[in-house]
Amino acid sequence: MKAAVIRDSVDGYVDIKDVTLRPITHGEALVKMEYCGLCHTDLHVAAGDFGKQPGRIIGHEGVGKVIQVADDVDNLKIGDRVSIAWFFKGCGHCEYCLTGRETLCRNVQNSGFTVDGAMAEECIVDANYAVKVPEGLDPVEATSLTCAGVTMYKALKVGETKPGQWVEVVGCGGLGNLAVQYAHNVFGAHVVAVDGNPDKLAAAKKDGAEVLINRHDGDVAEQIQKKVGGVNNAQITAVTPDAFTQSVNALRPDGKLVAVALPQGDMQLNIAKTVLDGISVQGSLVGTRQDLAETFQFGAEGLVHPIVKTRRLDEVNNIIDEMKANSIVGRMVVDFTK
Ligand SMILES: [Zn+2]
Ligand SMILES: [Zn+2]
Repeated sequence: MKAAVIRDSVDGYVDIKDVTLRPITHGEALVKMEYCGLCHTDLHVAAGDFGKQPGRIIGHEGVGKVIQVADDVDNLKIGDRVSIAWFFKGCGHCEYCLTGRETLCRNVQNSGFTVDGAMAEECIVDANYAVKVPEGLDPVEATSLTCAGVTMYKALKVGETKPGQWVEVVGCGGLGNLAVQYAHNVFGAHVVAVDGNPDKLAAAKKDGAEVLINRHDGDVAEQIQKKVGGVNNAQITAVTPDAFTQSVNALRPDGKLVAVALPQGDMQLNIAKTVLDGISVQGSLVGTRQDLAETFQFGAEGLVHPIVKTRRLDEVNNIIDEMKANSIVGRMVVDFTK
């Protein structure tokens, strides 16, 4: 079967190769892939930024149908549609795995990084960890919910978002546009969208953002304090440390800053503001299996729609170049059904 494999030189690109997967073993299932999205995390993995993995099949935004199950598997059957996410599996018995915080497991496995991923015609999954894709959810859209969708849905939970509250979404790209949709359509919150690109702000408005701020037009936090009295939580998806530093000042008392993007460097906190206003700062990383099941369900109910476009497997390196050039709106998804 054909797969996108990290090069021996780990130069940031992949080769499309014929690969034979090992046979499945206890607790596993074999999935025939239908679609797999390409994510910036895949670019980091292909370039060796998290450690070199030559020969590894990339991909962690995969959706496909089960074609084989091991004898001891009883939660999946042939024909089920399942997802392959970055969180491939945890150890299952540490304090994090046992207390609903499995993505923090120190022995976590990640699809397309520590185990072979979903950018291939077939993929092996651990049946206990492959989250089912519900009926009624478009499988192409499901690929984006598997990564960006669950990341933002979880981050809004971490921010303790409640109906009627104000949420600031900083950065309105692939993560941010889903943050706006989940915040507004699922959590019932009001949204302030911040970006430097007018097209992305226009898209955020269509997704339900009520206040739009171009970050090039003066002090963002000052405008937010003036217009809505500050926000209850800020979701930072922009990859500049400045976005983090400024957003602290956009919070109202007891506000929460939720760090999602991963720029290099440090963020600064205004100490007086943090102490006197009881500010919290918390990081948020993807989501658990339960978070993903909920993320999918809201998608199946039509409340969120990621922007997706299908491409061919032999175009993956072209897509990588387009992503590096920042010329893509939404997500490119490889179609394995043709
Ligand atoms: Zn991803
Ligand atoms: Zn664990």
